[in-house]
Amino acid sequence: MYPAIRGATELKRSLMKSRSEQIKDALRQQLLSDGLLGMCFVPIPAEALASLVSSRPAPAAAATSKPTASGDEQERLRVLDESQVRGCTKCGLSGTRTQTVFGQGHPNARLVFVGEAPGYEEDKQGFAFVGRAGQLLTKMIQAMGLSRDGVFICNVLKCRPPGNRDPSADEILACSPYLKEQLRIIRPEVLVALGAPAAKTLLSTAQSIGKLRGRFHDYEIGSPLEPDSTVPLMPTYHPAYLLRNPGEKKKTWEDLQKVMGKLGLSLPGN
Ligand code: SF4
Repeated sequence: MYPAIRGATELKRSLMKSRSEQIKDALRQQLLSDGLLGMCFVPIPAEALASLVSSRPAPAAAATSKPTASGDEQERLRVLDESQVRGCTKCGLSGTRTQTVFGQGHPNARLVFVGEAPGYEEDKQGFAFVGRAGQLLTKMIQAMGLSRDGVFICNVLKCRPPGNRDPSADEILACSPYLKEQLRIIRPEVLVALGAPAAKTLLSTAQSIGKLRGRFHDYEIGSPLEPDSTVPLMPTYHPAYLLRNPGEKKKTWEDLQKVMGKLGLSLPGN
């Protein structure tokens, strides 16, 4: 090849390479913004998201879990689940459930997500937030630089209301003590209530989620006489609602950023 032509070819290659690097950088930024930073929580190809997640450093243990002297909390959660929740017949949902859904995650989690009740997939599999809404919750958690294993995820109700109908006041009243006990065992530093029913139950209020979200409220985790008897609680939209109303994802991300600030977490990539 003539030197002039070879030079032009190399120049073209180098320009193409730099263009391809630019595209890659732009894509990476877009994915981080949309998928991990959660500006939109837009659907992202799983491989692309996985490669970005795996390329990020794992969050420090202290960022996701509190130091613990023993597995006491894990054991207490196990006993609560096996000796009380699994065989519970305190409300009519015991007759229609496939199984109870206790919730899962780190027994010393600094952050606990609380939803309303198990849905179809959760009732079938026995785990909280494993359907489509659960997949979006996973992205939200990853956007915070955390993993599902480092937080705790559960619902107010431990059994699925048939047809995913709204839980009745009696059912919430019957089941709430289990959630209260879970939270007293885990003692998180921050709570996120996903959706109006969870927020209204935890805060004993009738206000709408639109009014409640965006700021921290005090959740009474223990007796007012105890030190640290309240935990900051951030209400935000339920992932199932976000799937139907993607325009609200930005507000949810704003709420989650406030939670990250409260936990002293920095944005992924910073
Ligand atoms: S929803 Fe709660 S109170 Fe009702 S049967 Fe299930 S575990 Fe018991």
